[in-house]
Amino acid sequence: MAVVETVRGPVDLGSLGQTLMHEHVFVLSTEHMQNYGADWWDEEFRVADAIAKLNSLYAKGIHTIVDPTVWGLGRYIPRIQRIAAATPVNIIVATGLYVYEELPQQFAYRGPGLLIDIPEPMVTDFSRDITEGIADTGVKAAFLKFALETPEPSPGVERIARAVARTHVETGAPITVHTSGPHQTGRTAVRIFTEEGVDLSKVMIGHAGDSNDLDYLTELADQGVLLGMDRFGLDLFNPGTERIKTIASLTARGYAASMVLAHDANCFIDYFGAAHDAARAAAAPNWHYEHISNDVLPALLEAGVTQAQIDTMMVENPVRYFTPAKGGAS
Ligand SMILES: [Zn+2]
Repeated sequence: MAVVETVRGPVDLGSLGQTLMHEHVFVLSTEHMQNYGADWWDEEFRVADAIAKLNSLYAKGIHTIVDPTVWGLGRYIPRIQRIAAATPVNIIVATGLYVYEELPQQFAYRGPGLLIDIPEPMVTDFSRDITEGIADTGVKAAFLKFALETPEPSPGVERIARAVARTHVETGAPITVHTSGPHQTGRTAVRIFTEEGVDLSKVMIGHAGDSNDLDYLTELADQGVLLGMDRFGLDLFNPGTERIKTIASLTARGYAASMVLAHDANCFIDYFGAAHDAARAAAAPNWHYEHISNDVLPALLEAGVTQAQIDTMMVENPVRYFTPAKGGAS
């Protein structure tokens, strides 16, 4: 059977088991942490905390998390390697770039037709992460990630989208795109991907589950993409009861093979500074790795979703997403 790259190396796709398709370990800006983190970042405490949380998740039967933390969200693989070495949970990591509007200056002057006229450096960097490994860690990225917040992307975001698409065409690596449910930017993603020749069966429309618009969701699914029902616990974007109703409606219409589940949670995110623990406990008490296992799966069963459909969403669809396309390069 085919394999997928994880932080500990290649793993047989058949052994991924129940998989959460969009979870961060940490969202942590290096500059923020190094300059202002003295009162809220304790490296050893947070590493031990992440290991404990992942081990607890494993005990719930979740054996794999897919972590789309790329540049812009604070990817730092050596820290993730420490954690992966101390937990049986498979961690699959990504390459790509996460910005909503402005291209980082580090790419503004380099590229085709620019001051430093070279082939698209994002494709070069992303491809290297996939084929050779990230920095000198030996860890290979298994998928691509970027963000589309607005239906008409800025020139910078469009350049990222096309670089991600071209890296997919070169390497065969699947794509996860952060989209806006309210702005229905999954449509923009599908349009750009179609123009670039992307295999839509290798695309996950992240945060599709923030929308309850069944016309929008089935329109996307009918084009072959996976819908990320991936923010359980973030009720401020869409209440959990609505998320569950939407999934039950879609499974009743035959769309179990088009959905995957996750929380978009993390063990620590630096957006709240020193108020981290109190802020998330107050604003999003269910925003943690175990909410789906503890609460969402029982609620889905109660709403008429079958165990077989849950297995499709949590086991079979992730395997299909990471299975190399016929003729793909990897
Ligand atoms: Zn995320």
